[in-house]
Amino acid sequence: MELNKRQQQIIDIVKHNGPITGEHIADRLDLTRATLRPDLAILTMSGILEARPRVGYYYTNKSQNKIIADELKKYHVREYASHPIIIKNGMSIYDAICTIFMEDVSTLFIINEKGDFVGVCSRKDLLRASMMGEDIHTTPVDIIMTRMPNLSYISMDDKVIYAAQLMIEKEIDSLPIVQQKENGNLEIKGRISKTTITKLFVSLFKE
Ligand code: ADP
Repeated sequence: MELNKRQQQIIDIVKHNGPITGEHIADRLDLTRATLRPDLAILTMSGILEARPRVGYYYTNKSQNKIIADELKKYHVREYASHPIIIKNGMSIYDAICTIFMEDVSTLFIINEKGDFVGVCSRKDLLRASMMGEDIHTTPVDIIMTRMPNLSYISMDDKVIYAAQLMIEKEIDSLPIVQQKENGNLEIKGRISKTTITKLFVSLFKE
């Protein structure tokens, strides 16, 4: 966040004199309290200053990175879950390719006949199978999918920042959001992708 000259002056005053009231900051800058109101609002909303009723403003000593990190930690996967595209394990590679085009996603999640999450198939997995000369009309996706114990997934209660870290660490573009069934198997409830994270990031700056 880029601060203007007046906001920077306010920070300096609060750093050296805080806690200090809005009136006193205004006096030091030879301005009215009303003129300062928008700047003080920006500085408190961004977390650089904090305001205590009847005490005044004080400097939080948080770096801008820490402020952004604290902000990101507030978001849960539940609020950003998108619709998962799920296919059955017997589907042919050809049909999986058609699904990926029609649904405009990068990854398909695969379930078995009981509805349990059993695999993931990405664009590159499908491309690789086609290039290797698999008979894409008869070979089912189970042959080429990534399966347990190599699957990465998250739950609705996880933080978005954890999902982002997992996608970076595993070098994957999306994650299924799952819920554990009573028998311990996993049911797919949603999806989060790198695009979701990018949208959240952009929305933070719009705010
Ligand atoms: P692409 O390969 O199309 O660029 P990804 O980067 O998401 O897409 O996938 C890379 C590899 O990781 C693929 O082999 C895919 O099967 C696998 N993969 C994708 N998502 C997951 C996941 N959630 N858990 C385990 N493996 C995954």
